Amino acid sequence: MSEFLGKDRRTHYCGDLRECNIGERVCVMGWVKKARDLGGLVFVDLRDRSGIVQLAFDENTEKAVFEKALLLKTEFVVAAKGVVRERSSKNPDIPTGNIEIFADEVKILGESETPPFDIIDDCKTNEELRLTHRYLDLRRPVLQNNIIFRAKVAKSIRDYLCDKGFIEIETPILIKSTPEGARDYLVPSRVHKGSFYALPQSPQLYKQLSMVAGFDKYFQIARCFRDEDLRADRQPEFTQIDMEMSFVDTDDVLVLVEGLINHVFKDCMDVDIPTPLPRYTYRECMERFGSDKPDLRFGMEIINLNDALKGCGFPVFASAIEAGGSVRAINLKGYGDKLSRKDIDKLGEYAKGCGAKGLAWVKRGETDSGSFLKHMTEDELAAIYAAADCTVGDVLLILADSDNNRVLTQLGQLRVEAANRLGVERNGFNFLWVVEMPFFEFDYESGEWVAMHHPFTSPMDECVEYLDSDKGKVRAKAYDLVLNGIELSSGSIRITDPKLQAKIFELLGLSKEEAQVKFGYLLEAFRYGAPPHGGMGIGLDRLVMQMLGVSSLRDVVAFPKMQNAKELMTDCPAEVPAEAVAELGISFVKPEKSE
Ligand code: ASP
Repeated sequence: MSEFLGKDRRTHYCGDLRECNIGERVCVMGWVKKARDLGGLVFVDLRDRSGIVQLAFDENTEKAVFEKALLLKTEFVVAAKGVVRERSSKNPDIPTGNIEIFADEVKILGESETPPFDIIDDCKTNEELRLTHRYLDLRRPVLQNNIIFRAKVAKSIRDYLCDKGFIEIETPILIKSTPEGARDYLVPSRVHKGSFYALPQSPQLYKQLSMVAGFDKYFQIARCFRDEDLRADRQPEFTQIDMEMSFVDTDDVLVLVEGLINHVFKDCMDVDIPTPLPRYTYRECMERFGSDKPDLRFGMEIINLNDALKGCGFPVFASAIEAGGSVRAINLKGYGDKLSRKDIDKLGEYAKGCGAKGLAWVKRGETDSGSFLKHMTEDELAAIYAAADCTVGDVLLILADSDNNRVLTQLGQLRVEAANRLGVERNGFNFLWVVEMPFFEFDYESGEWVAMHHPFTSPMDECVEYLDSDKGKVRAKAYDLVLNGIELSSGSIRITDPKLQAKIFELLGLSKEEAQVKFGYLLEAFRYGAPPHGGMGIGLDRLVMQMLGVSSLRDVVAFPKMQNAKELMTDCPAEVPAEAVAELGISFVKPEKSE
């Protein structure tokens, strides 16, 4: 190989050759996508990361070279030299389709067995087989381009943040646990038997301590690890654009991130994201969309029917309102024709699956039909229609509950489900900020108040007084960035007052001693001059996924894990020799049958 490559290095990537190269002698290297032997003619499609170019061999090709061409098979690695010429039959489907290389030297650099699946974009082979041979899967242009695009996004982020004076700091991977609400991956220490490191759920405390250290602006494209029971489309390790800034308030962070988003979309996709991005309070999001991550690419906002229905004759509605709850609706405006009675019943079943007691509905037409009309007076119906702007052709879906949040959340889910079922068009990139998040949320399972973001988040100044008396009322200086119904990132202004931080730990159920053991170093650091600071973490994987419009995280992660947290190519996690475990000073109960 070195002889061939020695004097003549590769001159071009396959996909870069164009008509302007006609007459040039070039050298390309890549994988055989397809070799066609048409008798006296051989055509080889050679592929590298840039695309495909055709190599041609014909009756004018030297015999030895022609014979070599006949040996070329799919996925062989080949170097070829020759002169670029115009193609006699052009291929408008590929960028190099007007030219070909009339090859006069060929070298096989690596042979290939028949691959277990076709290396084509539209590969129908099951994902498990593809992931087992991920290096082949990644040769598929669609996937390769996704990974290359991801690298472009990461570079664009770095460029922007470095330009803004951010300093990239690597924080450790073997750490003392940082809580972000998930389970830690633990790493046993061999030297300190019985002790464990945790893999970071985020670099949260290190970035805060970097602010105490005076770095002023920190960022890192950081790997984070969360040992969660894997729900659909999560990865146990993921990448976060992690940032922190000193001497800032919420506005400063939001404006900086808006600039970042705007820059990255322009730089990588030539898409303009207008800024400032809209800001909604958490409460407003819940009231209007029934979600703290609303998809704003379509309307169907939630309508409160309480005023229209107060004292109405239908007990389901009246009792919900009387109990302090509400009756709320979404109007599927103009979709009457598209929704059969059966479709509405299916939506009813869906609503029940979300915990709703039942779905009330009305479809307006020449004559109105609905589930509750006979319980209503003309006036009451007219009041509902007016409140919901419900006219002929519309379908109104209504839920009632004695608990406001419940009815809102259920309608929020129904709103998205209805849009999915109706195929409502959702285009573009619709960002929003959700601000003034609640500080605490009540965990029904444990019966305790837990931090909605993380315990280092500052409560809003005007809410501090409710910390003891009314936790549900405490809002935080926390903000989420949402894109097309997906939470892309969250962040907050942090607590820097050691007394307040200690109080929050206490309110979250940590005794003084526990807080000292777990976070004593943070409380101590705050005693030595902590600047006000705040930041956020943006999910890089999800951002890239949205930019590319793909539906699986595995399409934007080079070597992903399956939903059961396994990596199929290397077959990990894997057992290790008993001595290795013994050396760590730990023992474990071997499951009877490991999954
Ligand atoms: N550490 C947070 C997270 O991982 C982000 C932040 O508050 O900066 O969600």
